[in-house]
Amino acid sequence: MPAPRSASSRLTLVLSLCLALAGCRSTTVRVGAFDGGSSWYAGGATCGGRPAFRIREYRDGLFILRQPACTNYEKPFLYLLIGEARALLLDTGAGGIDVAAPIDSVLAAWRAAHGGTPRALIVAHSHGHGDHVAGDSQFRGRPGVTLVERDSASVRTFFGLAGSADRVTYDLGGRVLDVLAIPGHEPAGIAVHDRATGVLLTGDTFYPGRLYVRDTAAYASSIARLVAFTAALPTIVLLGTHIEQARTPYTDYAVGTQDQPDEDQLELSRAELVSLDSAVQAMRGRFTRTRLRRFTIWPQQGQ
Ligand SMILES: [Zn+2]
Repeated sequence: MPAPRSASSRLTLVLSLCLALAGCRSTTVRVGAFDGGSSWYAGGATCGGRPAFRIREYRDGLFILRQPACTNYEKPFLYLLIGEARALLLDTGAGGIDVAAPIDSVLAAWRAAHGGTPRALIVAHSHGHGDHVAGDSQFRGRPGVTLVERDSASVRTFFGLAGSADRVTYDLGGRVLDVLAIPGHEPAGIAVHDRATGVLLTGDTFYPGRLYVRDTAAYASSIARLVAFTAALPTIVLLGTHIEQARTPYTDYAVGTQDQPDEDQLELSRAELVSLDSAVQAMRGRFTRTRLRRFTIWPQQGQ
């Protein structure tokens, strides 16, 4: 006969259940909308007039920015998340464009509508590759701005991901983010989950395009951890930092393509993450280039 449970062990059980169910508080996820797959198409190879970021508020202070194609063929996506105490800008673009001014104007409009908050801006990166950090100098040393440098040590120190901790929460003030270390594409890679909207930002680790894998063991582990993580917290969409895929399944635009008039939609689903995980696990450490419907696993051993 099992020993009767004490009050404290019952509490532990409840807490355990709460953790398993992603928190006792009923968290209402505020879902945003995408208005069609082609809506992020940001011009062709040549600029008409002064190129500007395409900016849209997904929902409640989560802004999506897309760098125009004419300024850099990588045309990455940047994300700005705004809390009551601070805002987080994830990535600064691929260069050749003013990124500080549009961020300033979004924040100024937000502050005007929200009593002057947030006062602080954190600038960090999905990972440290050049097409995501090129605008860093526009933020470095500015008052009220903390720039987290691109290297793995700086990222881990800032978010508290040092040692064996590979997942932490980071509170922007009334907006809790989960930050996961996801090396594999690049050592300093992180994923950021926004509990308010259920959006998971996955950088170059998972997006509609060529998923370049440098460290296969680390990548396999990172994807498996993302699958487990998204089983525990509501994840409505997964958003990466490029679109290289065309709408036609199994088809991507060649490296260096600027004009992508028929590009795929940005958002990916958890089911697609699970399909990536299945394909990765099936390789059992022997990665080969594998084309799936909306992305391609692209190992880069030795590079
Ligand atoms: Zn990239």
